[in-house]
Amino acid sequence: MSSIPNLVRREIVETAKTLVVKIGTNVLSRDDDTLDDSRFDALAAQVDHVRRTGRQVVLVSSGAIGSGIGLLGLKKRPDDLPHLQAAAAVGQAHLIRRYDDCLHEYGYRAAQLLLTANDFRHRGRYLNVRNTIQTLFEYNAIPIINENDTVSVQEIKFGDNDKLAALVTNLLEQPLLVILSVIDGLYNGDPADPASRLIPLVERWDESLLALATATRSTRGTGGMQSKLEAARNSTAVGENVIIANGRNPRVLEQVLAGEEVGTLFLARGESIPAWKRWIGYSLPPRGRYVLDDGARKAIEQRGRSLLSIGITAVDGEFTKGEVVSLVDNHGIEFARGLTNYGAHDARRIAGKRTEQIPEILGTVPYDEVIHCDNLVVTS
Ligand code: GLU
Repeated sequence: MSSIPNLVRREIVETAKTLVVKIGTNVLSRDDDTLDDSRFDALAAQVDHVRRTGRQVVLVSSGAIGSGIGLLGLKKRPDDLPHLQAAAAVGQAHLIRRYDDCLHEYGYRAAQLLLTANDFRHRGRYLNVRNTIQTLFEYNAIPIINENDTVSVQEIKFGDNDKLAALVTNLLEQPLLVILSVIDGLYNGDPADPASRLIPLVERWDESLLALATATRSTRGTGGMQSKLEAARNSTAVGENVIIANGRNPRVLEQVLAGEEVGTLFLARGESIPAWKRWIGYSLPPRGRYVLDDGARKAIEQRGRSLLSIGITAVDGEFTKGEVVSLVDNHGIEFARGLTNYGAHDARRIAGKRTEQIPEILGTVPYDEVIHCDNLVVTS
């Protein structure tokens, strides 16, 4: 073990004010799909440990569907939505009860927040989630977040709780995202192969890391290593650090706080991006695309300029003013996102034209910029 990563880890922990801890279904379950009480007790003790260091904790916990499957005595995970939603409804009640019982031993109350992707798309709701979490901190309650599986259909689904945890991380100040799974971290090969080694530190995100994820789907949860890596990619891109570690280790959070080399640490890439820009760049699904010429791409990517109509070579999709549009280069690769000042119809008419020509075409110039640089986030 080299000492350099430990120094890095200590520094990261010192600056973290809130731990966002994502807990996978397998971390909480026995092999027969029932919830394992000893895991909850260990988690509550660790939450208390973190709180005593003056830090806040937010849990993003899976386990509703897995626990519902056990409680209803189902032989296997249902394949269809109504049965999954029903299993989640039964399981979530039990899950939160279990958290409340074990946290109460240490004087905390569990607070349940069930969210859908829509809650992150609407700025008002997004801010409400943030305010609720802050108020729960005042009350010394522990927010326990899960997807609202009983109402989530495809269009409003996060997909998996790793993604949800990355979005929740965006809401908080000086967070550290810890993703707990039943694997020790990211390996440089198949984790089942004894020759494979755990990677303790990823200094810079590289897309080739995704190839290391075997993308195995567990029987209970969703996601696998692939979705954990995607969450790590999204969070490090906005300037946060992420640790993927084994949640069956009953001291894992204590070890994280001590700066010990547990799991895989993914270092933040660059400065932390302001909350408003994170919301534009990472919480909202783009409604369309602007294809840009090379000059416009460079002006935005390298010089932080606004997008002007002259740089747009094509407009794809249907969107209205104020929606998020993806900015792609002439190969179709996305490099930025922003809130558009023009709807798709007008944008098509002014694409490729100089700003001075806009009044002749539209009869008015509501905005000089198609996307103002304040509402633009480079994502590449
Ligand atoms: N929300 C799901 C549950 O509580 C889990 C989704 C996931 O593990 O990614 O069962």
